Amino acid sequence: MQHLADTCANCTTDAKSKRRDFSEQAWAVLLVWKEVQAGAVDQPICDECYAELRETLIDRAGEIEDALKAPKQPQKGAVVAKGKSRKAG
Ligand SMILES: [Zn+2]
Repeated sequence: MQHLADTCANCTTDAKSKRRDFSEQAWAVLLVWKEVQAGAVDQPICDECYAELRETLIDRAGEIEDALKAPKQPQKGAVVAKGKSRKAG
């Protein structure tokens, strides 16, 4: 695995980038929140992205569990058809 790079895997800026040791959980929520590109997970990212992601994790620490509990939930209140469709046969 690459630990250092000249390009950030997240914002694709040419900047000294380093792989960050976020936990699996942290990467997962960052993905759910669309704070990070899927291709940047566990890849070297620049200092700027790292600072932003870290802040996001701190700011939204209370939401992390919720985000992990309900990944990819269908829209709330999705319409469920009641009853069976009757077709004259
Ligand atoms: Zn970056």
